[in-house]
Amino acid sequence: MDVREQLCYTDAYARTTEARVVDVDAGGDAPLVVLDRTVFYPGGGGQPPDRGLLLRARDGRRWTVRAARKSGGDIVHELEPTPDGPPSRDDVLTVDLDWSRRYELMRTHTALHALCGVVWRDHGALVTGGNMEPGAGRMDFEFERMGGDLVGEIEARVNEELRSKRDVRVNVLPREEAFEIPDLIRTKVNLLPEGIQEIRTVEIVGLDLQADGGTHVSNTSEVGGIRVTGYESKGRINKRIRIELTD
Ligand SMILES: [Zn+2]
Repeated sequence: MDVREQLCYTDAYARTTEARVVDVDAGGDAPLVVLDRTVFYPGGGGQPPDRGLLLRARDGRRWTVRAARKSGGDIVHELEPTPDGPPSRDDVLTVDLDWSRRYELMRTHTALHALCGVVWRDHGALVTGGNMEPGAGRMDFEFERMGGDLVGEIEARVNEELRSKRDVRVNVLPREEAFEIPDLIRTKVNLLPEGIQEIRTVEIVGLDLQADGGTHVSNTSEVGGIRVTGYESKGRINKRIRIELTD
């Protein structure tokens, strides 16, 4: 079987690559293409999939990739339909991300980790979910005491941590080893399917450690600052905090 390189997991800063088409499905509303190598993130963990372009140097044709997703272990690229149809199997293409959008998602995603880290460290509150778009995101916590007085303090602490220029590290651990890290339990690593033998972790050194599949910046200084834009009760215990990047 082909080994298909999924660069988003090993090098979040890879924005372009050459690739060969290994599978095309032109049957649905939007053509679907699988490549032997890609820089696209397929979405997941609250981070939306990338957008970008595929370019065929041979004749100068280009296709817009409007979304991507994981299917049977592959990253599938969903193309904007064109009158001349999709690329063909074995075509050699240049894969090009919408980098400014992706980079903003990396900064936003890292900011949300800093928020989780601060809320856990200072208040012992567990994360239950999250979502983001470029430049803004939200996280849900089991955080009964959360209220307006605390939110301002949380914002200040998160900004302090971001300014501390903390490195962000990605690791892949055997499942058994990951289960021994107490911090990972709060992100519900024990809910991962049985079949997964390796756990990818993302660590803001000294602040936060999570099992995570997304893309992040490599130092918190790249995030800049954040602002809390709102908070809501989703029940007595469950609270939501919304943030945006400030620069
Ligand atoms: Zn993450």
